[in-house]
Amino acid sequence: MQLMQSKNLNVNENCGVVYYSFPAFDSIPFVRHGFSTRIGGVSGGIYESMNLSHSRGDKKNAVDENFKRFCNAISVDVNDVVISAQEHHTVIYNATRQDCGRGIMREKGYSDIDGLITNQPGVVLCTQYADCVPLFFADPVQRVVGTSHAGWKGTAARIGRLTVERMCSDYGCKPENIIAGIGPSIGVCCFEVDTPVYEVFQAMEEADSTCFIHKIRDNRVIKYHVDLWEINRRILINAGLAPKQITVTDLCTRCHSDVFWSHRANGSKRGSLAGFISMY
Ligand SMILES: [Zn+2]
Repeated sequence: MQLMQSKNLNVNENCGVVYYSFPAFDSIPFVRHGFSTRIGGVSGGIYESMNLSHSRGDKKNAVDENFKRFCNAISVDVNDVVISAQEHHTVIYNATRQDCGRGIMREKGYSDIDGLITNQPGVVLCTQYADCVPLFFADPVQRVVGTSHAGWKGTAARIGRLTVERMCSDYGCKPENIIAGIGPSIGVCCFEVDTPVYEVFQAMEEADSTCFIHKIRDNRVIKYHVDLWEINRRILINAGLAPKQITVTDLCTRCHSDVFWSHRANGSKRGSLAGFISMY
């Protein structure tokens, strides 16, 4: 199989499951993580083959098997997975061993959670995607990990910064020790928005003209493209991370919709990607 390479991320294949990882996270011995692709699952039809969402109409048995295969590929226990309840808000939840299985082995029993953090080993944090920006965090000093879902609303509300702040306030982390990863998601090449969304980002102190592309027709701007990767990177820098502590994807999910699920490319008839991070 020809694996799509990235300049900044590692591409891995294990028992047919293809996933991406961040070299800086791979180098921490007790951290296990990965970001899925469409490759290596058992789902059929519009979900072929690695769909990691139970709420898109796919067969439960197939999705369960996909989670099992993905967890095996990144060497975590599927029984330890805790899945977020994403609503494009900024609630960040402190997951513990008691939460293991929520959203996969049993009902979630919670709603409105776009970020997960933990300082407990054996808790596998999971967030889900199809173009939105996945953020990954690890502090190898305090031994804390996190992941948060930054769609355009979460990005505008600075969920990345909020996640760093919660790691610091709740677990004693220091920004200078936290590494972050901005994972595969829709790039500035494809994230086209109308004026109201553009104006939200234009008003942010983190954004300048280099974060936007203006599409012009007949001498007037008809659409805007927004660079969510760069804006999220600058949000993390404002949160106290040095540029060298942050790895940014170079893979756009819409440009590579044969490898990744993309809402803009596939519409609602699609599966979901997922990001996982844990400590063992
Ligand atoms: Zn693109």
